[in-house]
Amino acid sequence: MRDARETLQTVFGYDAFRPLQEAIVNHVIDGGDAMVLMPTGGGKSLCYQVPALVRPGCGVVVSPLIALMQDQVSALQELGVNAAYLNSTLEPQAARAVEDALLAGELDLLYIAPERLVQPRTLFLLERARIALFAIDEAHCVSRWGHDFRADYLQLSLLHERFPQIPRLALTATADARTREEIIQRLDLHEAGQFIAGFDRPNIRYRIALKQNPRQQLLQFLREEHPRDSGIVYCLSRNKVEETAQWLSAQGFHALPYHAGLPAALRATHQARFLREEAVVMVATIAFGMGIDKPDVRFVAHLDLPRTIEAYYQETGRAGRDGLPADAWMVYGLQDVLKQRQMLDASEGNDTFKRAEQQRLNAMLGLCEVTGCRRQVLLRYFGDTLPSPCGNCDTCLEPVDSWDGTEAARMALSAVYRTEQRFGVNHLIDVLRGNENERVRQFGHQRLPTFGVGEKLDANQWRSVFRQLVARGLLDSDPERYGALTLAESCRPLLRGEEELWLRRDQRPVRQRSTRSAGEAFDVDSELWEALRECRRQLAEEQGKPPYIIFHDRTLQEMCLRLPRDIQAFGELSGVGQNKRDKYASAFLQVIDSHLQNRLH
Ligand code: ADP
Ligand code: ZN
Repeated sequence: MRDARETLQTVFGYDAFRPLQEAIVNHVIDGGDAMVLMPTGGGKSLCYQVPALVRPGCGVVVSPLIALMQDQVSALQELGVNAAYLNSTLEPQAARAVEDALLAGELDLLYIAPERLVQPRTLFLLERARIALFAIDEAHCVSRWGHDFRADYLQLSLLHERFPQIPRLALTATADARTREEIIQRLDLHEAGQFIAGFDRPNIRYRIALKQNPRQQLLQFLREEHPRDSGIVYCLSRNKVEETAQWLSAQGFHALPYHAGLPAALRATHQARFLREEAVVMVATIAFGMGIDKPDVRFVAHLDLPRTIEAYYQETGRAGRDGLPADAWMVYGLQDVLKQRQMLDASEGNDTFKRAEQQRLNAMLGLCEVTGCRRQVLLRYFGDTLPSPCGNCDTCLEPVDSWDGTEAARMALSAVYRTEQRFGVNHLIDVLRGNENERVRQFGHQRLPTFGVGEKLDANQWRSVFRQLVARGLLDSDPERYGALTLAESCRPLLRGEEELWLRRDQRPVRQRSTRSAGEAFDVDSELWEALRECRRQLAEEQGKPPYIIFHDRTLQEMCLRLPRDIQAFGELSGVGQNKRDKYASAFLQVIDSHLQNRLH
């Protein structure tokens, strides 16, 4: 029996397990069941892949993401692992070949769709084969509360009944305790070891800027920080997705739209291009992302506010699975707050539901308006704690001032009151700043006591005050009259002078940064970096595979830093196992060699 660490090195090319991985791998190799909760990018796959290789027999992986199976299997085959899958996309003949290989003991890992697994034919097959373990990926699909519920997952409890001797692992990145409880219940994992990792994604830099000119802000962010990287831009509506993708294309980016209104075939094509080509910017509604296993998404940008922290964390979590630096970038403004509140008011559902959703939105707004470390807020939301500020979010990197906004807030609230809670923010600002325009005169608002009391702040500063009042729930939006602001019950103590209010001082978003390429972001020789990427791209194209299946960015980065000159040094790089060493060393060594030659001359 091969030992776990040796397998890790020779097959996967990694030096060491991450701490939790090691515990899980040993536990499962010894025959234990496991419930594994790890954030995206935490390294869940190795937790079952290594034991599957070490234990006799074939590891069976249940995964709902049929579209991903082929890539997962070809990634394993690249490593020299005998892997295969069974799902509805296979012709009967190909499926039979897989079944034969399983029975002959030739497979190390077999991926099966849940609906396939629970068929009597498949169960009968598995009963005749030697099975090393069952891994249930995306185990939260068993939860009725979650948004990814799959009825077939409910039947997976039969694994325990039919195969009581075989270790089972349930794996998920979904955080909350209720879902976790439900997984244990429904999959009968009461006896299983529980392995729960913290939720931090330290390589992701969280940034939330004030929305002023969103397109220009996005353009500047992409040009300056990610000119040649893959990433996702999320928008709320299909129209905005289409427009933004077109506009980015016109600006020279390789941008593709993705939303539920596109024909299925076109969606599939765009998804495949995002996976297989480099530097594709996917502009998408939230319909895009579930089961996107691409490790080198370097940024996730939000042009619209997500409604909950769960959604925000899941969407931004698609960045940087490979552990290299990645950005979660968002612009946000008053209109976002109003729009989300409006959508909530208009949504179906009873009052209890709406109140719960309101609270979740408030938590999201709290994250936007916070003056302290954003990561601390995020982790606290998920019941995790980060003892000190992270140093890798915008508020840590450029501390935000706060100011005593009590008086300004009172003026704003009183302007709302005096104008009978029927006007939007632009008109209210005109009143506060004493702008005697036609509309003001039409309603006689130049005669109000509030007229002109707020000259000291400019229009942007007033917008900031109003935004924060809405975000904190001191002002509501009128469900009947779009954009009109009304007083919320909770603003009374402030109006009566019983409460103070400290506000965030918004920063001007325009800051000049030097251009950097993906390679430079990692501080490596950018010429060599691009040459290695080109080599990888060609190899990937020849084989019709995504580039990251050849090597992850991290391995290319190591090539730049360590400049291996022979096959042995090449084999020592992280991510280079024996199989890939033998297959690819010469191509990449040649690139490194000619780069060094050129540098000499
Ligand atoms: P998850 O499924 O939890 O999102 P993956 O299994 O895809 O995470 O792993 C994320 C990344 O981390 C992959 O690029 C993987 O190769 C890498 N990785 C996992 N474990 C290790 C390790 N022990 N050493 C180095 N890299 C690792
Ligand atoms: Zn921070």
